[in-house]
Amino acid sequence: DLASAYDAERAYELDRAHVFHSWSAQAEISPMVITRGRGSHVWDGAGRQYLDFSSQLVFTNLGHQHPRIVAAIQEQAGHLATVAPAFANGTRSEAARLIASHTPGDLDHVFFTNGGADANEHAVRMARLHTGRHKVLTTYRSYHGGTELAVNMTGDPRRWASDHGSTGTVHFFGPFLYRSSFHATTEAEECQRALAHLEQVVALEGPSTIAAIVLEAIPGTAGIMVPPPGYLAGVREICDRHGILLVADEVMSGFGRSGRWFAVEHAGVTPDLLTFAKGVNSGYVPLGGVAISDAVHATFAHRSYPGGLTYSGHPLACAAAVATIRTMEDEDVVGRAERLGAEVIGPGLRALADKHERIGEVRGTGAFWALELVSDRATREPLAPYGGSSPEMAAIVKGCQERGMLPFVNFNRIHVVPPLTTTDEEAREGLAVLDEALSATA
Ligand code: PLP
Repeated sequence: DLASAYDAERAYELDRAHVFHSWSAQAEISPMVITRGRGSHVWDGAGRQYLDFSSQLVFTNLGHQHPRIVAAIQEQAGHLATVAPAFANGTRSEAARLIASHTPGDLDHVFFTNGGADANEHAVRMARLHTGRHKVLTTYRSYHGGTELAVNMTGDPRRWASDHGSTGTVHFFGPFLYRSSFHATTEAEECQRALAHLEQVVALEGPSTIAAIVLEAIPGTAGIMVPPPGYLAGVREICDRHGILLVADEVMSGFGRSGRWFAVEHAGVTPDLLTFAKGVNSGYVPLGGVAISDAVHATFAHRSYPGGLTYSGHPLACAAAVATIRTMEDEDVVGRAERLGAEVIGPGLRALADKHERIGEVRGTGAFWALELVSDRATREPLAPYGGSSPEMAAIVKGCQERGMLPFVNFNRIHVVPPLTTTDEEAREGLAVLDEALSATA
């Protein structure tokens, strides 16, 4: 029964016997047992409390066990726990209305999926049918999901095992001044050269063969590289000139994470399709989706859309989304995220960089920050190789955990991505832990 499953030792034993984990060599992992969570904290099997600076996988935007979300799920479960997608349902309709009220421009139609990867799969399918073209351009240093097409769109090492060159995706370099692919020394130069590079890739691939350019409005797992001013507007302009659709993947950057409802707002750009998941309902029940423009929607007005999911717009997931979005509106959670970044996390991380030679760069916005750790500030040699880890990185992570904080880690980077509801005091506590862990392993 559930009570015995809450026993930490048994949970661990059964996990090792029967649970197959994502992205892992099964015999080499030893997952931490989490028994409960509240707000910005979780507790392990031994009853130890941790400040969650990772929001799990950057999805608990309103923290754990938010009473309004939990109550909404419970109420929906008591009323109508499930219904097939072909029916209309008030909870789903309201979730779609709320999402459409916050997405930019005319992205007013919502196709619900179970998560981010399938949202991207469907966005590309829509773009291909709308344009009658096949190719998709995506960036190196990106993550778009684990399914066949989504993992091939991905620009990180997780793609390598599944890429057999048959999905029609072509990769290009996005802007990333700290490790510029264009020998740029200023943001303006990086922006201009990255756009010239993209223009050239489009020309050489053949504009009339390209359905969509898909990019994360702010690349997340790949390193939280906030694009320089003018970049996204430049991509929009290239798309418009060639009849290519712009798809913004806001799975990680959306729903307040960047200090705006959607990260494209920083650039004042409206994509043709916008994909979301994670923060839409703080991840309490699996939910993702595609927000669709009027023009793409019109393509499917009298032509059946060839795609669907059993759980598209599941009422429990949509009830969680309604409660999440209303809470964000009522409590100005997006403004809170912006201030948390501008007043606490940003200045706090910059102070750490003044002190620790290993911090090569601090970058981010809202509750969305990355520390680029290096073994040498002058050469910018990463503290772990691309696609790998190192004893130094492992020691820093262990140092954080031993001091009661869970960081988000990728290669040579630590990401500070706490719930948007994290208090200033909690954020300072977490930064102090990071400070100690960096000092202890220097
Ligand atoms: N897109 C981005 C930007 C993501 O960060 C992720 C997940 O981390 C995905 C897509 C895939 O989402 P999911 O794991 O829900 O399929």
